[in-house]
Amino acid sequence: MSAILSPGTLSTTCCIVGGGPAGIMLGFLLARSGIQVTVLEKHKDFFRDFRGDTIHPSTLELMRELGLLEAFLAVPHQEMPRLSVSFGNRSFPLADFSGLPAQANFITLMPQWDFLKFLSTQAAQLPTFSLLLEHEVIGLIKQNGRILGVQANTPNGPVEIRAGLTVGCDGRQSIVRSSAELPVIDRGAPIDVLWFRLSRSTSDPANALGNFNYGAGLILINRGDYFQCGYIIAKDSFASTIKPAGLPAFRQSLVHLVPFLTDRVSEITAWDQLNLLSVQVNRLQRWHLPGLLCIGDAAHAMSPVGGLGINLAIQDAVAAANILAGPLRSALVTEITLAHVQSRREFPTRVTQAFQVAAHHLLTRFLGNPGAIKPPLLLRLLSPIALFRRTTARFIGLGVRPEHIRPHGDR
Ligand SMILES: Cc1cc2nc3c(=O)[nH]c(=O)nc-3n(C[C@H](O)[C@H](O)[C@H](O)COP(=O)(O)OP(=O)(O)OC[C@H]3O[C@@H](n4cnc5c(N)ncnc54)[C@H](O)[C@@H]3O)c2cc1C
Repeated sequence: MSAILSPGTLSTTCCIVGGGPAGIMLGFLLARSGIQVTVLEKHKDFFRDFRGDTIHPSTLELMRELGLLEAFLAVPHQEMPRLSVSFGNRSFPLADFSGLPAQANFITLMPQWDFLKFLSTQAAQLPTFSLLLEHEVIGLIKQNGRILGVQANTPNGPVEIRAGLTVGCDGRQSIVRSSAELPVIDRGAPIDVLWFRLSRSTSDPANALGNFNYGAGLILINRGDYFQCGYIIAKDSFASTIKPAGLPAFRQSLVHLVPFLTDRVSEITAWDQLNLLSVQVNRLQRWHLPGLLCIGDAAHAMSPVGGLGINLAIQDAVAAANILAGPLRSALVTEITLAHVQSRREFPTRVTQAFQVAAHHLLTRFLGNPGAIKPPLLLRLLSPIALFRRTTARFIGLGVRPEHIRPHGDR
Protein backbone atom coordinates (compact mmCIF):
# COMPACT_ATOMS: atom_id res chain seq x y z
CA MET A 1 0.00 0.00 0.00
CA SER A 2 1.65 3.25 -1.11
CA ALA A 3 0.10 6.70 -0.94
CA ILE A 4 -0.05 8.73 -4.19
CA LEU A 5 1.46 12.18 -3.55
CA SER A 6 0.98 13.48 -7.08
CA PRO A 7 0.84 11.80 -10.51
CA GLY A 8 4.10 9.87 -10.83
CA THR A 9 5.03 10.17 -7.14
CA LEU A 10 4.24 7.62 -4.45
CA SER A 11 5.14 7.65 -0.79
CA THR A 12 5.71 4.78 1.60
CA THR A 13 7.39 4.17 4.95
CA CYS A 14 9.89 1.64 3.66
CA CYS A 15 10.77 1.17 -0.01
CA ILE A 16 12.47 -2.13 -0.78
CA VAL A 17 14.29 -2.41 -4.10
CA GLY A 18 14.27 -5.98 -5.43
CA GLY A 19 11.83 -8.85 -4.96
CA GLY A 20 14.35 -11.64 -4.39
CA PRO A 21 14.66 -13.69 -1.19
CA ALA A 22 15.97 -10.74 0.89
CA GLY A 23 13.42 -8.21 -0.40
CA ILE A 24 10.30 -10.37 -0.19
CA MET A 25 11.19 -11.70 3.27
CA LEU A 26 11.95 -8.21 4.62
CA GLY A 27 8.76 -6.82 3.08
CA PHE A 28 6.69 -9.61 4.57
CA LEU A 29 8.15 -9.25 8.06
CA LEU A 30 7.86 -5.46 8.15
CA ALA A 31 4.27 -5.57 6.86
CA ARG A 32 3.58 -8.18 9.53
CA SER A 33 4.71 -5.55 12.05
CA GLY A 34 2.17 -3.12 10.60
CA ILE A 35 4.68 -1.05 8.63
CA GLN A 36 3.74 0.34 5.25
CA VAL A 37 6.14 -1.29 2.85
CA THR A 38 6.50 -1.17 -0.94
CA VAL A 39 8.65 -3.74 -2.76
CA LEU A 40 9.76 -2.81 -6.28
CA GLU A 41 10.68 -5.64 -8.63
CA LYS A 42 11.88 -5.03 -12.17
CA HIS A 43 10.57 -8.29 -13.61
CA LYS A 44 6.92 -8.97 -14.32
CA ASP A 45 6.92 -12.25 -12.35
CA PHE A 46 9.28 -14.51 -10.44
CA PHE A 47 10.13 -16.74 -13.42
CA ARG A 48 13.66 -15.93 -14.41
CA ASP A 49 17.07 -17.46 -14.81
CA PHE A 50 18.15 -20.13 -12.36
CA ARG A 51 19.54 -18.53 -9.23
CA GLY A 52 19.60 -21.31 -6.72
CA ASP A 53 17.07 -23.66 -5.28
CA THR A 54 18.31 -24.52 -1.84
CA ILE A 55 16.20 -23.71 1.20
CA HIS A 56 18.23 -24.57 4.27
CA PRO A 57 17.11 -25.72 7.72
CA SER A 58 17.56 -22.14 9.05
CA THR A 59 14.85 -20.95 6.66
CA LEU A 60 12.61 -23.93 7.46
CA GLU A 61 12.98 -23.01 11.13
CA LEU A 62 11.86 -19.44 10.31
CA MET A 63 8.84 -20.86 8.46
CA ARG A 64 7.99 -22.85 11.57
CA GLU A 65 8.30 -19.75 13.76
CA LEU A 66 5.95 -17.94 11.36
CA GLY A 67 3.46 -20.82 11.54
CA LEU A 68 3.91 -21.46 7.80
CA LEU A 69 5.99 -24.63 7.72
CA GLU A 70 3.17 -27.03 6.89
CA ALA A 71 1.85 -24.86 4.06
CA PHE A 72 5.39 -24.29 2.80
CA LEU A 73 6.21 -27.99 2.67
CA ALA A 74 2.99 -28.57 0.72
CA VAL A 75 4.68 -26.77 -2.22
CA PRO A 76 6.35 -29.43 -4.45
CA HIS A 77 9.97 -29.90 -3.44
CA GLN A 78 12.68 -32.51 -2.82
CA GLU A 79 14.29 -33.15 0.57
CA MET A 80 17.97 -33.86 1.13
CA PRO A 81 18.70 -35.20 4.62
CA ARG A 82 22.38 -35.73 3.81
CA LEU A 83 24.97 -34.21 1.49
CA SER A 84 27.74 -36.11 -0.16
CA VAL A 85 30.35 -35.26 -2.73
CA SER A 86 32.16 -37.46 -5.27
CA PHE A 87 35.88 -37.15 -5.89
CA GLY A 88 36.91 -39.50 -8.64
CA ASN A 89 34.90 -42.67 -8.28
CA ARG A 90 34.45 -42.35 -4.52
CA SER A 91 31.56 -40.70 -2.77
CA PHE A 92 32.20 -39.01 0.59
CA PRO A 93 29.44 -38.09 3.06
CA LEU A 94 29.88 -34.40 3.85
CA ALA A 95 26.97 -33.33 6.03
CA ASP A 96 24.23 -35.11 7.96
CA PHE A 97 21.28 -32.88 8.83
CA SER A 98 19.38 -35.50 10.82
CA GLY A 99 20.76 -34.14 14.12
CA LEU A 100 19.25 -30.69 13.54
CA PRO A 101 15.92 -29.72 15.12
CA ALA A 102 13.08 -31.98 13.93
CA GLN A 103 10.94 -30.53 11.10
CA ALA A 104 14.00 -28.66 9.82
CA ASN A 105 16.53 -31.46 9.52
CA PHE A 106 16.98 -31.51 5.74
CA ILE A 107 17.76 -29.22 2.84
CA THR A 108 14.78 -28.43 0.68
CA LEU A 109 15.22 -28.14 -3.07
CA MET A 110 12.51 -25.88 -4.41
CA PRO A 111 12.61 -23.68 -7.52
CA GLN A 112 13.26 -20.13 -6.34
CA TRP A 113 10.17 -18.82 -8.15
CA ASP A 114 7.95 -21.19 -6.15
CA PHE A 115 9.60 -20.06 -2.92
CA LEU A 116 9.15 -16.36 -3.78
CA LYS A 117 5.59 -16.91 -4.94
CA PHE A 118 4.76 -18.65 -1.67
CA LEU A 119 6.26 -15.89 0.46
CA SER A 120 4.79 -13.03 -1.56
CA THR A 121 1.34 -14.64 -1.48
CA GLN A 122 1.54 -14.71 2.32
CA ALA A 123 2.72 -11.09 2.36
CA ALA A 124 -0.04 -9.96 -0.02
CA GLN A 125 -2.61 -10.87 2.64
CA LEU A 126 -1.27 -8.09 4.84
CA PRO A 127 -2.86 -4.67 4.28
CA THR A 128 0.39 -2.70 4.55
CA PHE A 129 2.30 -4.79 1.97
CA SER A 130 2.57 -3.77 -1.64
CA LEU A 131 4.58 -5.49 -4.39
CA LEU A 132 4.96 -3.44 -7.58
CA LEU A 133 6.16 -5.59 -10.47
CA GLU A 134 7.76 -4.13 -13.60
CA HIS A 135 9.18 -1.28 -11.53
CA GLU A 136 12.86 -1.00 -12.41
CA VAL A 137 14.78 1.32 -10.14
CA ILE A 138 17.18 3.51 -12.09
CA GLY A 139 18.52 5.79 -9.37
CA LEU A 140 18.21 7.23 -5.87
CA ILE A 141 16.62 10.52 -4.82
CA LYS A 142 19.27 12.31 -2.76
CA GLN A 143 19.14 15.53 -0.79
CA ASN A 144 21.84 16.93 1.49
CA GLY A 145 23.51 13.52 1.82
CA ARG A 146 20.24 11.76 2.68
CA ILE A 147 18.42 9.20 0.51
CA LEU A 148 14.76 10.14 0.17
CA GLY A 149 13.62 7.33 -2.13
CA VAL A 150 14.09 6.05 -5.67
CA GLN A 151 13.29 6.76 -9.29
CA ALA A 152 11.89 3.86 -11.27
CA ASN A 153 10.80 3.08 -14.81
CA THR A 154 7.46 1.34 -15.26
CA PRO A 155 5.41 0.32 -18.33
CA ASN A 156 3.33 3.48 -17.63
CA GLY A 157 6.31 5.81 -17.50
CA PRO A 158 8.73 6.97 -14.81
CA VAL A 159 7.73 7.22 -11.13
CA GLU A 160 9.33 8.49 -7.96
CA ILE A 161 8.83 6.54 -4.74
CA ARG A 162 9.56 8.61 -1.64
CA ALA A 163 10.31 6.71 1.56
CA GLY A 164 11.55 7.21 5.10
CA LEU A 165 13.89 4.29 4.50
CA THR A 166 15.06 2.70 1.24
CA VAL A 167 16.50 -0.81 1.40
CA GLY A 168 18.60 -2.14 -1.48
CA CYS A 169 17.83 -5.85 -1.95
CA ASP A 170 18.57 -5.77 -5.66
CA GLY A 171 21.25 -8.42 -5.77
CA ARG A 172 24.80 -8.69 -7.00
CA GLN A 173 24.42 -6.07 -9.78
CA SER A 174 22.71 -3.67 -7.36
CA ILE A 175 21.84 -0.28 -8.82
CA VAL A 176 21.20 0.96 -5.27
CA ARG A 177 24.73 0.04 -4.23
CA SER A 178 26.31 1.74 -7.26
CA SER A 179 24.09 4.86 -7.11
CA ALA A 180 24.96 5.29 -3.44
CA GLU A 181 28.66 4.91 -4.32
CA LEU A 182 29.23 2.60 -1.38
CA PRO A 183 32.80 1.24 -1.45
CA VAL A 184 33.15 -2.48 -2.21
CA ILE A 185 35.73 -4.96 -0.85
CA ASP A 186 36.29 -7.52 -3.60
CA ARG A 187 37.40 -10.98 -2.41
CA GLY A 188 37.87 -12.21 -6.00
CA ALA A 189 36.65 -15.54 -7.35
CA PRO A 190 38.79 -17.84 -9.54
CA ILE A 191 35.83 -19.80 -10.89
CA ASP A 192 32.85 -19.37 -13.18
CA VAL A 193 29.83 -21.66 -13.50
CA LEU A 194 27.93 -22.84 -16.57
CA TRP A 195 24.28 -23.57 -15.76
CA PHE A 196 22.08 -25.81 -17.90
CA ARG A 197 19.49 -28.56 -17.67
CA LEU A 198 19.63 -32.26 -18.45
CA SER A 199 16.77 -34.67 -18.07
CA ARG A 200 16.77 -36.99 -15.07
CA SER A 201 15.57 -40.56 -14.99
CA THR A 202 14.12 -42.35 -11.98
CA SER A 203 17.06 -44.77 -11.88
CA ASP A 204 19.59 -41.93 -11.38
CA PRO A 205 21.08 -41.50 -7.91
CA ALA A 206 18.86 -39.12 -5.89
CA ASN A 207 21.83 -37.56 -4.17
CA ALA A 208 24.40 -36.95 -6.91
CA LEU A 209 25.03 -33.35 -5.94
CA GLY A 210 28.76 -32.68 -6.28
CA ASN A 211 31.03 -34.56 -8.73
CA PHE A 212 34.71 -33.71 -9.16
CA ASN A 213 37.23 -35.39 -11.44
CA TYR A 214 39.48 -34.81 -14.47
CA GLY A 215 39.96 -31.12 -13.78
CA ALA A 216 36.24 -30.28 -13.65
CA GLY A 217 33.31 -30.19 -11.26
CA LEU A 218 29.62 -30.80 -11.94
CA ILE A 219 26.81 -29.98 -9.52
CA LEU A 220 23.59 -31.90 -10.19
CA ILE A 221 20.53 -30.49 -8.45
CA ASN A 222 17.65 -32.94 -8.47
CA ARG A 223 14.55 -31.15 -9.80
CA GLY A 224 12.43 -34.30 -10.16
CA ASP A 225 12.33 -34.95 -13.90
CA TYR A 226 15.47 -32.95 -14.69
CA PHE A 227 18.82 -31.98 -13.22
CA GLN A 228 19.75 -28.35 -12.84
CA CYS A 229 23.45 -28.69 -13.68
CA GLY A 230 26.27 -26.36 -12.67
CA TYR A 231 29.56 -27.02 -14.44
CA ILE A 232 32.42 -25.38 -12.54
CA ILE A 233 35.19 -23.97 -14.70
CA ALA A 234 38.30 -21.84 -14.21
CA LYS A 235 37.57 -18.08 -14.40
CA ASP A 236 37.18 -16.81 -17.97
CA SER A 237 37.94 -20.26 -19.45
CA PHE A 238 34.56 -20.48 -21.22
CA ALA A 239 35.54 -18.03 -23.96
CA SER A 240 39.21 -18.95 -24.06
CA THR A 241 39.09 -22.76 -23.84
CA ILE A 242 35.71 -24.46 -23.56
CA LYS A 243 33.83 -22.80 -26.40
CA PRO A 244 36.70 -23.00 -28.92
CA ALA A 245 37.01 -26.74 -28.17
CA GLY A 246 33.43 -27.19 -29.42
CA LEU A 247 30.19 -28.75 -28.16
CA PRO A 248 31.16 -32.42 -28.79
CA ALA A 249 34.19 -31.95 -26.51
CA PHE A 250 31.99 -30.28 -23.88
CA ARG A 251 29.46 -33.13 -23.99
CA GLN A 252 32.29 -35.65 -23.77
CA SER A 253 33.71 -33.92 -20.69
CA LEU A 254 30.33 -34.29 -18.96
CA VAL A 255 30.22 -38.02 -19.74
CA HIS A 256 33.80 -38.44 -18.60
CA LEU A 257 32.90 -36.81 -15.27
CA VAL A 258 29.51 -38.43 -14.66
CA PRO A 259 29.15 -41.55 -16.84
CA PHE A 260 25.43 -42.06 -16.10
CA LEU A 261 24.73 -38.89 -18.14
CA THR A 262 25.90 -40.61 -21.37
CA ASP A 263 22.39 -41.19 -22.74
CA ARG A 264 21.31 -37.54 -22.45
CA VAL A 265 24.20 -35.17 -23.07
CA SER A 266 22.95 -35.03 -26.68
CA GLU A 267 20.17 -32.78 -25.29
CA ILE A 268 22.75 -29.98 -25.39
CA THR A 269 22.75 -28.93 -29.01
CA ALA A 270 23.68 -25.23 -28.80
CA TRP A 271 25.76 -22.99 -26.55
CA ASP A 272 22.75 -20.79 -25.82
CA GLN A 273 21.31 -23.62 -23.68
CA LEU A 274 24.08 -22.73 -21.22
CA ASN A 275 24.13 -19.67 -18.95
CA LEU A 276 27.52 -18.41 -17.86
CA LEU A 277 27.64 -17.10 -14.28
CA SER A 278 30.66 -14.97 -13.57
CA VAL A 279 31.13 -15.77 -9.89
CA GLN A 280 31.75 -12.84 -7.53
CA VAL A 281 32.52 -12.66 -3.83
CA ASN A 282 32.50 -9.16 -2.41
CA ARG A 283 30.95 -7.04 0.31
CA LEU A 284 30.33 -3.42 1.07
CA GLN A 285 32.58 -1.69 3.56
CA ARG A 286 29.59 0.21 4.81
CA TRP A 287 26.05 -1.08 4.25
CA HIS A 288 24.21 2.19 4.88
CA LEU A 289 23.83 5.93 4.36
CA PRO A 290 21.28 8.22 6.00
CA GLY A 291 17.91 6.88 4.76
CA LEU A 292 19.46 3.85 3.02
CA LEU A 293 20.46 0.28 3.86
CA CYS A 294 21.70 -2.59 1.67
CA ILE A 295 21.24 -6.27 2.59
CA GLY A 296 21.52 -9.67 0.85
CA ASP A 297 23.67 -9.89 -2.26
CA ALA A 298 23.43 -6.09 -2.66
CA ALA A 299 25.54 -5.83 0.51
CA HIS A 300 27.61 -8.99 -0.09
CA ALA A 301 27.61 -10.90 -3.38
CA MET A 302 27.97 -14.62 -2.68
CA SER A 303 29.45 -17.47 -4.69
CA PRO A 304 27.08 -20.40 -5.35
CA VAL A 305 29.55 -22.64 -3.43
CA GLY A 306 27.74 -24.34 -0.58
CA GLY A 307 24.41 -22.90 -1.71
CA LEU A 308 24.54 -20.37 1.11
CA GLY A 309 23.54 -17.06 -0.52
CA ILE A 310 19.74 -17.38 -0.36
CA ASN A 311 19.78 -18.26 3.28
CA LEU A 312 22.23 -15.52 4.19
CA ALA A 313 19.98 -13.05 2.36
CA ILE A 314 16.96 -14.30 4.31
CA GLN A 315 18.84 -14.14 7.62
CA ASP A 316 19.80 -10.52 6.81
CA ALA A 317 16.13 -9.75 6.19
CA VAL A 318 15.07 -11.23 9.53
CA ALA A 319 17.76 -9.32 11.43
CA ALA A 320 16.87 -6.10 9.60
CA ALA A 321 13.15 -6.54 10.34
CA ASN A 322 13.85 -7.27 14.03
CA ILE A 323 16.04 -4.18 14.37
CA LEU A 324 14.09 -1.77 12.14
CA ALA A 325 10.44 -2.50 12.92
CA GLY A 326 10.30 -0.40 16.11
CA PRO A 327 12.25 2.60 14.76
CA LEU A 328 10.28 2.55 11.48
CA ARG A 329 7.00 2.61 13.41
CA SER A 330 8.10 5.71 15.28
CA ALA A 331 9.86 7.21 12.20
CA LEU A 332 13.17 7.24 14.05
CA VAL A 333 15.55 5.30 11.86
CA THR A 334 18.95 6.79 12.59
CA GLU A 335 22.28 5.78 11.08
CA ILE A 336 23.06 4.11 14.41
CA THR A 337 20.10 1.81 13.86
CA LEU A 338 21.26 1.03 10.33
CA ALA A 339 24.82 0.42 11.55
CA HIS A 340 23.33 -2.03 14.07
CA VAL A 341 21.98 -4.13 11.19
CA GLN A 342 25.42 -4.19 9.56
CA SER A 343 27.23 -5.10 12.78
CA ARG A 344 24.74 -7.90 13.45
CA ARG A 345 25.12 -9.44 9.98
CA GLU A 346 28.70 -8.60 9.00
CA PHE A 347 30.28 -11.36 11.07
CA PRO A 348 28.17 -14.19 9.53
CA THR A 349 28.89 -12.71 6.10
CA ARG A 350 32.65 -12.61 6.67
CA VAL A 351 32.76 -16.19 7.98
CA THR A 352 30.60 -17.52 5.13
CA GLN A 353 32.64 -15.70 2.49
CA ALA A 354 35.90 -16.93 4.07
CA PHE A 355 34.54 -20.48 3.71
CA GLN A 356 33.64 -19.85 0.06
CA VAL A 357 37.04 -18.31 -0.71
CA ALA A 358 38.78 -21.34 0.90
CA ALA A 359 36.59 -23.68 -1.17
CA HIS A 360 37.53 -21.72 -4.31
CA HIS A 361 41.23 -22.21 -3.51
CA LEU A 362 40.65 -25.94 -3.16
CA LEU A 363 38.81 -26.03 -6.49
CA THR A 364 41.54 -24.15 -8.35
CA ARG A 365 44.07 -26.79 -7.27
CA PHE A 366 42.53 -29.30 -9.65
CA LEU A 367 40.51 -27.25 -12.17
CA GLY A 368 42.03 -27.69 -15.62
CA ASN A 369 44.27 -30.58 -14.49
CA PRO A 370 42.98 -33.37 -16.75
CA GLY A 371 44.24 -36.33 -14.69
CA ALA A 372 42.10 -38.47 -12.37
CA ILE A 373 41.54 -36.63 -9.11
CA LYS A 374 42.91 -37.74 -5.77
CA PRO A 375 40.35 -37.03 -3.06
CA PRO A 376 41.64 -34.38 -0.60
CA LEU A 377 43.34 -36.00 2.40
CA LEU A 378 41.35 -33.92 4.87
CA LEU A 379 38.07 -35.14 3.41
CA ARG A 380 39.22 -38.77 3.49
CA LEU A 381 40.15 -38.41 7.14
CA LEU A 382 37.16 -36.39 8.34
CA SER A 383 34.27 -37.72 6.27
CA PRO A 384 33.87 -40.99 8.27
CA ILE A 385 33.59 -39.03 11.55
CA ALA A 386 29.96 -38.41 12.56
CA LEU A 387 30.89 -35.30 14.58
CA PHE A 388 32.44 -33.76 11.43
CA ARG A 389 29.29 -34.48 9.41
CA ARG A 390 27.09 -32.99 12.14
CA THR A 391 29.31 -29.88 12.39
CA THR A 392 29.26 -29.27 8.64
CA ALA A 393 25.48 -29.78 8.74
CA ARG A 394 25.16 -27.07 11.38
CA PHE A 395 27.35 -24.67 9.41
CA ILE A 396 25.63 -25.28 6.07
CA GLY A 397 22.15 -25.78 7.46
CA LEU A 398 21.87 -23.18 10.19
CA GLY A 399 24.77 -20.87 9.34
CA VAL A 400 26.59 -18.55 11.68
CA ARG A 401 24.41 -16.61 14.13
CA PRO A 402 20.98 -17.87 13.05
CA GLU A 403 18.22 -15.27 13.35
CA HIS A 404 14.76 -15.79 14.81
CA ILE A 405 11.40 -14.16 14.17
CA ARG A 406 10.39 -11.78 16.96
CA PRO A 407 7.00 -12.91 18.33
CA HIS A 408 4.03 -11.04 16.80
CA GLY A 409 6.30 -9.09 14.48
CA ASP A 410 7.71 -7.06 17.40
CA ARG A 411 4.45 -5.17 17.84
C1 LIG B 1 23.41 -19.06 -11.00
C2 LIG B 1 23.35 -18.91 -9.49
C3 LIG B 1 23.15 -20.01 -8.69
C4 LIG B 1 23.07 -19.89 -7.32
N1 LIG B 1 22.81 -20.99 -6.55
C5 LIG B 1 22.52 -20.84 -5.24
C6 LIG B 1 22.02 -21.92 -4.46
O1 LIG B 1 21.82 -23.04 -4.94
N2 LIG B 1 21.73 -21.69 -3.16
C7 LIG B 1 21.92 -20.46 -2.59
O2 LIG B 1 21.65 -20.30 -1.39
N3 LIG B 1 22.40 -19.43 -3.30
C8 LIG B 1 22.67 -19.58 -4.62
N4 LIG B 1 23.11 -18.51 -5.34
C9 LIG B 1 23.25 -17.22 -4.70
C10 LIG B 1 21.85 -16.65 -4.48
O3 LIG B 1 21.09 -16.65 -5.68
C11 LIG B 1 21.93 -15.23 -3.94
O4 LIG B 1 22.90 -15.15 -2.90
C12 LIG B 1 20.57 -14.81 -3.39
O5 LIG B 1 19.60 -14.95 -4.40
C13 LIG B 1 20.62 -13.39 -2.88
O6 LIG B 1 19.30 -12.97 -2.63
P1 LIG B 1 18.93 -11.43 -2.76
O7 LIG B 1 17.49 -11.32 -2.47
O8 LIG B 1 19.89 -10.62 -1.98
O9 LIG B 1 19.23 -11.06 -4.28
P2 LIG B 1 18.62 -11.65 -5.62
O10 LIG B 1 18.14 -13.02 -5.43
O11 LIG B 1 19.63 -11.41 -6.68
O12 LIG B 1 17.34 -10.76 -5.88
C14 LIG B 1 17.47 -9.45 -6.35
C15 LIG B 1 16.13 -9.04 -6.94
O13 LIG B 1 16.20 -7.66 -7.29
C16 LIG B 1 15.64 -7.47 -8.58
N5 LIG B 1 16.27 -6.28 -9.14
C17 LIG B 1 17.56 -6.15 -9.54
N6 LIG B 1 17.78 -4.90 -9.96
C18 LIG B 1 16.62 -4.23 -9.81
C19 LIG B 1 16.22 -2.88 -10.07
N7 LIG B 1 17.08 -1.99 -10.60
N8 LIG B 1 14.95 -2.51 -9.80
C20 LIG B 1 14.06 -3.42 -9.27
N9 LIG B 1 14.39 -4.71 -9.03
C21 LIG B 1 15.65 -5.10 -9.29
C22 LIG B 1 16.00 -8.75 -9.32
O14 LIG B 1 15.15 -8.96 -10.42
C23 LIG B 1 15.79 -9.80 -8.22
O15 LIG B 1 14.48 -10.25 -8.16
C24 LIG B 1 23.23 -18.62 -6.73
C25 LIG B 1 23.47 -17.51 -7.52
C26 LIG B 1 23.51 -17.64 -8.89
C27 LIG B 1 23.68 -16.42 -9.75
